[in-house]
Amino acid sequence: MSDVIHDTLRRPLASLRLSVTDRCNLRCRYCMPEDEYAWLPRTSILTFEEIERLTGVFSGLGVHKVRLTGGEPLLRHDLSTLVAMIARNPRIRDLAITTNGLLLGKHAAELRTAGLQRVTVSLDTLRPERMLAFAKSARHADVLEGIAAARQTGFARLKLNAVVIRGFNDDELTDLIEFARAHDAEVRFIEYMDVGGATRWSRDQVVSQREMLDVLARRYGAIEPVRPTGDDGRAPAERFRLADGTTFGIIASVTAPFCRTCDRSRVTADGTWFLCLYAGAGIDLRELLRRGAPDEELASLIRETWQGRTDRGAEERLGVADRGALYRIESLRADPHREMHTRGG
Ligand code: SAM
Ligand code: SF4
Ligand code: SF4
Repeated sequence: MSDVIHDTLRRPLASLRLSVTDRCNLRCRYCMPEDEYAWLPRTSILTFEEIERLTGVFSGLGVHKVRLTGGEPLLRHDLSTLVAMIARNPRIRDLAITTNGLLLGKHAAELRTAGLQRVTVSLDTLRPERMLAFAKSARHADVLEGIAAARQTGFARLKLNAVVIRGFNDDELTDLIEFARAHDAEVRFIEYMDVGGATRWSRDQVVSQREMLDVLARRYGAIEPVRPTGDDGRAPAERFRLADGTTFGIIASVTAPFCRTCDRSRVTADGTWFLCLYAGAGIDLRELLRRGAPDEELASLIRETWQGRTDRGAEERLGVADRGALYRIESLRADPHREMHTRGG
């Protein structure tokens, strides 16, 4: 039996996002808009054994949900081997991935066999020419193939993430709902966040949850909130239901942040642990791993750090007058850990 540990706001340590690489095969404008990036040194990237060990320590402290992310997690060579290593930990009850889908067609079946339970695919637009302009990729068909493969492979509760940006894809809300319905998936609209990486963020490009609901109500009529059950109460998305039963989610990180229930933390591909998406600095766990610190030492560092956690990054941003991008490019270059593609979103 694992202990459940709580931070200063009574939030349990329950969910871990593991970034397995900071590299990506897309250049989404809201995440990686620059031409060049400073990458984490290869020798600093955790091995599968190191990730498995860390996951074991975290799970002993109450973590039971793990989401693999990146960068693009499917760029990590032989990812299904890591999935199998994590899946054999009986304390991990929910093992998921967030991917841009480009390589999912190739890997969906082996990931499922290895023990991956759930898949979220990022799909911002149904129009290939928009993806080309916005993510510098002509591979829209590969994303659709990836979604089809995930569905055929039988992953439960397939989710599609769409970051909604005014003037880019805010006219596709209903198309994305229809697409998700046709593919037995649930779409989650994400407010455009001013996180590291989003150096071109401005408030006027954010389409708020309120606006999204108004647009959808005009098309579909009454929309009712879905009452959260079980772990959903801590999930970032608020879920809604249309009159015909179709459900969708909205992640309103900008206009209605949910820090009060946040049980998530993040480990970057080089083993730096962040207690909040907005945190200025993280804790170097790799150093302990590589100098041979015993599990108990790692566990006490993690326990004590979590017990002192006060982070409410997105809520604090609400109080910032003249809110603009969180970081300028120079400060991201000075420390790539501030990037969204390093932190894993
Ligand atoms: N490459 C994978 C993908 O795109 O699904 C996983 C990593 S990505 C950083 C994880 C999630 O963060 C994606 O769903 C992406 O849309 C979201 N994201 C990145 N930048 C964002 C921003 N500025 N605002 C809101 N969501 C963002
Ligand atoms: Fe886009 Fe994900 Fe890559 Fe960021 S990490 S550029 S969100 S695909
Ligand atoms: Fe959690 Fe930080 Fe996001 Fe708030 S801003 S929900 S504390 S990760």
